[in-house]
Amino acid sequence: MQPIIKTKNLNFTYNKGKDNEFQALTNISIEIYPQEFIIFFGPSGCGKSTLLNIMAGLEIPDPGMVFVYGKDVAKMTPKEFVNYHRTKVGMIYQAYNLITSLSVLDNVALPQIFLNIKKKERDKKALQLLERFGIREHAKKIPTELSGGQQQRIGIARAIINNPDIVLADEPVGNLDSVSAENVLSILKTLNEKERKTVILVTHNPEYLEYGDRIMHMKDGMIIRETVNKNKYKRKSLAKAPTAELQDMLRAYQGLSPNQINVLIMPYKAKVFAHHFITNRNIEETKIFEDAIQRKLLNTISPEEFFDILHRPYSEGGVGFDKRTAKKIIKRVDKAIKMAYFIYQKAHQRKNEQGGHDKVTLKEKTLKLTDYLLHTCYEKYYTHLSTTQISRLRRAVQDRLLNHINKTEFYNFLDLPVKEGGVGLNSKTARAITEEIELILILGYGIAPNLDNNRFSHQIISN
Ligand code: ADP
Ligand code: MG
Repeated sequence: MQPIIKTKNLNFTYNKGKDNEFQALTNISIEIYPQEFIIFFGPSGCGKSTLLNIMAGLEIPDPGMVFVYGKDVAKMTPKEFVNYHRTKVGMIYQAYNLITSLSVLDNVALPQIFLNIKKKERDKKALQLLERFGIREHAKKIPTELSGGQQQRIGIARAIINNPDIVLADEPVGNLDSVSAENVLSILKTLNEKERKTVILVTHNPEYLEYGDRIMHMKDGMIIRETVNKNKYKRKSLAKAPTAELQDMLRAYQGLSPNQINVLIMPYKAKVFAHHFITNRNIEETKIFEDAIQRKLLNTISPEEFFDILHRPYSEGGVGFDKRTAKKIIKRVDKAIKMAYFIYQKAHQRKNEQGGHDKVTLKEKTLKLTDYLLHTCYEKYYTHLSTTQISRLRRAVQDRLLNHINKTEFYNFLDLPVKEGGVGLNSKTARAITEEIELILILGYGIAPNLDNNRFSHQIISN
């Protein structure tokens, strides 16, 4: 995993060589990963803004280096630098830094001009953001006619209009009352958690530290301490991982949100999924297959393109499945993803006929998953199972969903003869069903929206 921003022995001196020379930053070496919420915390004058400006590419460290997306900022071509600054980072300031001679709408729409977007498009997008932040009715006013909280929301809209991956916020609530401040912070939280942006917040106010995944404590131009926000971690009540390998990965990612982890473990999910279908293919084919499945999981590939990659011969960059197999695989992939979503969905999501919402109960999840497992692994002989066998299988499925039993126990119970209290499946079927349920557990892991405040999905996967 490559850091999105990395600094190495970074120093910065104002007025170098002059009488008033001042070393603002000393030996800063940090790594920030995609989709983290990082807070730089420290008293006024400790160098927070200077560091933020360097990360934005507005100042060049001396000596030392700053890398964004692995690229040394000092070595970027002018074109790369301009592109970085215009489309990859968005900045939010304490004093809003809005242009007071322009309307609210024009302030927000402005950064798109550099991207050669037509005026109609620019205004449309800007209005959408104003709408989202509840200030659309003020679009034609000038910024100073609005309250501080509203002006900062203009500032945020302007910062994200070009959809940057990184949001840099320098004391964004320093001038705001506490209600407006919470509002602005909750917007940053949403940008981080729902839109998966890397958020870097500078503050001297300890009240806001709870928003960060990691806090870098600064003093006198140095980072003196780094803390991981355990409370944030707890609040989200991370689900227990279904496999040992996943467990290890999660340990390494401690402190990140489920959404963030979901993206980090995506390659692993894809690998498991792909391996599910092929064991005798060569590594290169497998890799192409994995990449296609990863795009499928991220929902960035069309059904046609997915089919095309699976079907195209390896010599032409595809996986080389024949048409029938490719279609079958696509059907299976879609089914498995759907099932994983069903299992991990929030309790109250399903709409009923009256337009209200029903809870999807643990029992429903168990029944549907059991059916799915039987249809996927046992189709032909489904009807031969006795009601005792089916009810025992359901019990095992429910126990596995709740993580009351592990993979091996699940398999053993399926394999155990009926008269000894087991499901009595033959070993091959038991194995197939076990692998299938593990696949579903892994695929669904981390996709549940808002694990916090969600007693049910919390129970079902974290127990
Ligand atoms: P913070 O954002 O943590 O309050 P800054 O990064 O703004 O701190 O400033 C760090 C130190 O560098 C302060 O002592 C400040 O006075 C000094 N400084 C900031 N900008 C300049 C400048 N343009 N010229 C000289 N010194 C500066
Ligand atoms: Mg500052």
